[in-house]
Amino acid sequence: MSAIDTLPPLREVIANHQLSARKSLGQNFLLDLNLTAKIARQAGDLTGCDVLEIGPGPGGLTRGLLSEGARKVLAIEKDSRCLPALEEIAAAYPGQLEIVNGDALEIDPLAHLIPPVRVAANLPYNVGTELLVRWLTPKEWPPFWQSLTLMFQREVAERIVAQPGSKAYGRLAILSQWRADAKIVLSLPPGAFTPPPKVSSAVVHLDALPAPRFEADAATLSRVVAAGFNQRRKMLRASLKGVARDIEDHLVAAGITPTERAEQVSLEAFCALARSIKAAQ
Ligand code: SAM
Repeated sequence: MSAIDTLPPLREVIANHQLSARKSLGQNFLLDLNLTAKIARQAGDLTGCDVLEIGPGPGGLTRGLLSEGARKVLAIEKDSRCLPALEEIAAAYPGQLEIVNGDALEIDPLAHLIPPVRVAANLPYNVGTELLVRWLTPKEWPPFWQSLTLMFQREVAERIVAQPGSKAYGRLAILSQWRADAKIVLSLPPGAFTPPPKVSSAVVHLDALPAPRFEADAATLSRVVAAGFNQRRKMLRASLKGVARDIEDHLVAAGITPTERAEQVSLEAFCALARSIKAAQ
């Protein structure tokens, strides 16, 4: 019998510890252990890896990650009501689950983790995008993580994997695809969660590239992309006016027609534009 079989079903755990879901903490729990194991498998081979999990709640995904062979899980949970349930899992997997009670936006997990590290989480929606942006924009690349396997609202997941020419294409797509391979690996209807959220969800898997896909200075690329998409209906020669002098020359040098809009421009062309602007500084 594996360790997971000795633990009670999640509905029982929730009842025993009176874990009524709190909206303010983005609590929509996954109670089907087959589903949490399936999500854990999307994170890749976990044996020999430390896994960072944000928002374990009653521990459904945590149990999936451990049963799929994670060397260690570091679970950061803000809601102290969940700690007794998580302690029960820690007891079933001695030395393999470290629980930190606190806000993932304020805790530096690096001191607790040994590479290689994978991140897997059914994220609280209110902090999910902010954490993703932080993980994609460290000072050094490659980052501390090898892969991210994250649950998002379907609409956010589509923005992460969006291609030029689509409405969803914007800063999140550029940021995600510049330094990682990103794909949607699982779609979940609201009914997969307790309580069900209003919208559908999707799991996105991102593998960190050893180096950015195309050369560019991160700060310049970020400025260009922010300016272009902040006024996405405008032609680039207008929306990027404040970014650099002679912006039309830089656009042409990057192979971009100055009358194009940001959502038509590929990641490669944005990087070429950032290089041209940086070289002129
Ligand atoms: N992983 C669990 C599951 O799949 O059933 C729970 C997912 S629920 C969508 C999000 C979890 O994140 C909740 O347990 C919530 O308390 C926790 N949480 C919310 N904000 C947080 C924060 N800033 N830092 C850490 N955990 C947070």
